[in-house]
Amino acid sequence: MPVMTMSQDLSPAAPSVAVIGAGIVGACAALALQRGGCRVDVYDPLPPGGGASFGNAGLISIDSVVPIAMPGMLRNVPRWLIDPDGPLALRPGYALRAAPWLLRWLRAGRLPAVRASSRALHALHRPALDEYRALLGAERFVTLLRTQGQVHVWEDERDSAADRIADELRERLDVPTERLDAGALRELLPELSPAIRRGLLFPRHAHTVEPRQLVQAVAELLQQAGGRLVAERALKIVPRPDGDYRLLTNCGDRIHDRIVVAAGAWSRSLLEPLGVRLPLETERGYHAELSAPSLLPRIPLVHKDRGFAVTPMTGGLRIAGTVEIAGLDAPPDERRADALVAQAQALFPGLRFEHWRAWMGLRPSFPDSLPVSDRLARHPGVVVACGHGHFGMTAASMTARLVSQLVRGEPAAIDLHPYRLARF
Ligand SMILES: Cc1cc2nc3c(=O)[nH]c(=O)nc-3n(C[C@H](O)[C@H](O)[C@H](O)COP(=O)(O)OP(=O)(O)OC[C@H]3O[C@@H](n4cnc5c(N)ncnc54)[C@H](O)[C@@H]3O)c2cc1C
Repeated sequence: MPVMTMSQDLSPAAPSVAVIGAGIVGACAALALQRGGCRVDVYDPLPPGGGASFGNAGLISIDSVVPIAMPGMLRNVPRWLIDPDGPLALRPGYALRAAPWLLRWLRAGRLPAVRASSRALHALHRPALDEYRALLGAERFVTLLRTQGQVHVWEDERDSAADRIADELRERLDVPTERLDAGALRELLPELSPAIRRGLLFPRHAHTVEPRQLVQAVAELLQQAGGRLVAERALKIVPRPDGDYRLLTNCGDRIHDRIVVAAGAWSRSLLEPLGVRLPLETERGYHAELSAPSLLPRIPLVHKDRGFAVTPMTGGLRIAGTVEIAGLDAPPDERRADALVAQAQALFPGLRFEHWRAWMGLRPSFPDSLPVSDRLARHPGVVVACGHGHFGMTAASMTARLVSQLVRGEPAAIDLHPYRLARF
């Protein structure tokens, strides 16, 4: 599909759409809508890619079909929580508020629910690279994305029960993977610590060399197509009797025919005045970006025992991951980023670097690992696109197509049932 870079001549009757949030989800949705004939304004007080989309691991994991909550996880939680450098942390002062979400998360880890989430992740993730290519055009695609695959690694030689279920989920969906023993892993990544005993190669996975630049590229294409970025914070969506909406921002108010809520982890408070209560929690994550590293692995990897990814990026080597449940407003715990540096050095004993930079971001997460792509039943001009959790960089490009279809009243490219609001 040719990529449109010139501003479109839209008729004044073209529907005016406010997209709230200029993360990867809002930016991609805005571009798809503008190209689909809408007049789009994207509201965000931050420049494009300033939220969770700024500092993630950048993995475009098109064959990622395993939800985060899995059977048997409860057994691991106490061990994770007492390890200060472990993959999961829960701030004691926030535990009570997070309890309802955590209970739903545990329920989502039952096998039938896991299988349903797995199928829905597959439908959303599988087309991601084709959709990115269509959004970005071939030239920007090859500048910003690498299709080199990805490898998961473990210290334990034996599969856990959760690993066996993950294998079964992938087999059901015909996901190609290749098991790597210690020798094959060393051939691929000679710098790896001998503590790593096995791996799993995902040949079709990709990554972006700079997540923020990817969002910025999409936002530039949006502006070239005639869309606008409005540096304002949306405060309230007010439905009007004639079917359009008044959007109150920190700088005034405007009328739009349609609203897309793509405000990541902050989406909940915009929807509550419209009578929608979502179990949207933030799984905070951290990164440490090492500049001038002495080695760059030739393929991104995910350390499955420790819950972090290592991605070669234009700015250096990014170590990103882990989960902290502490709400939207608590200050970052920089020790979690320090721990990522130490863990990267344990993974690659020869790793040296000049300096490093810490970052914390807020994953917008529902308990079942699936996002919402749906319109409000009582206010059908409001479309919700949030909650992409651990997979937003992967799922954003297909989500853009779905949002554009929802807003324009077209049939959806895939079954939207798993991503509906009514599931809560
Ligand atoms: C450490 C870490 C590693 C990750 N690694 C990966 C990975 O490798 N692959 C992957 O697929 N995903 C990954 N993710 C997940 C991914 O980053 C998120 O799912 C994705 O960025 C969410 O995008 P978003 O656009 O929904 O939210 P965001 O990027 O957070 O954007 C939301 C935007 O909304 C704006 N906003 C909020 N409130 C308002 C308001 N009232 N008015 C206007 N604007 C508002 C914010 O300023 C923000 O810019 C990772 C996340 C983390 C934290």
